[in-house]
Amino acid sequence: MISRLRTNWIVIHCSATRAIQINIGAKDIRLWHHQKGWTDIGYHYVIKRSGAVEKGRELGLVGAGVEGHNTDSVHICLVGGLNDDTWKPENNYTSQQWAALQKLVSTLTKKYPAAKVLGHRDFAGVKKACPCFNVRPWAKKLGFPIY
Ligand SMILES: [Zn+2]
Repeated sequence: MISRLRTNWIVIHCSATRAIQINIGAKDIRLWHHQKGWTDIGYHYVIKRSGAVEKGRELGLVGAGVEGHNTDSVHICLVGGLNDDTWKPENNYTSQQWAALQKLVSTLTKKYPAAKVLGHRDFAGVKKACPCFNVRPWAKKLGFPIY
């Protein structure tokens, strides 16, 4: 476990699970990440389909979410992101999740005034759909700092 000395990014992720998987939470994701051989869940927060915000890895520690960008990032995971039938990327978050995300990002941008908000896929070289929505216009509309 390594303390995070700088926080330049607040990164939004998704669990890449289907909307019908309503009960997925930090406990499940921690298990998946243990199965990958990681010491702990990679994300600092998980936002369940209900809008409940669960703590993952300790906020002050380096997380695991974007290769090469973990030492200065906070990672938030929205549960969902895949279509129920096709399993393809889909922006399918609940209104409770949007409200919780806004509140959490608001808190974190106040705590880390140098940090900018972006999605996992917005980092150069990332070939993933995560978090299955376009973070920039969302963050811009809400007045959060963007890159
Ligand atoms: Zn991601």
